[in-house]
Amino acid sequence: MSERCQYRVYSGRRDDMRGHLCGKPAKAYEGGVWLCSLHTAEGIAKRNAALNAKHESRMQALREQSKRSELREKRAAIFGELVDALRSMVLDMDHKCETSPSKRRAEELLEKAEAIA
Ligand SMILES: [Zn+2]
Repeated sequence: MSERCQYRVYSGRRDDMRGHLCGKPAKAYEGGVWLCSLHTAEGIAKRNAALNAKHESRMQALREQSKRSELREKRAAIFGELVDALRSMVLDMDHKCETSPSKRRAEELLEKAEAIA
């Protein structure tokens, strides 16, 4: 079969405003014209499905990125309050002359947190 695909392709270039015929070797005769495998209804549906899947995967990645950044912001917003609460706890332990391992741990964490607050 030496028929050529008659599907009109639009490249979007200025010198191709009216588009041009695909011209690839035809595989099927559909709706009165010869078409290559890319331009049959099935070929176009396949391509659209692939583009939709790609788009959906990009959108999913953006949604996840946005969720992560929202979580970071929430954590950052509560960080100051956590440091304040820890400071109060350490002061309370000081007043009670407490010398437990958990107090030492709280002091270490407070020091680290204050360094980056
Ligand atoms: Zn074609």
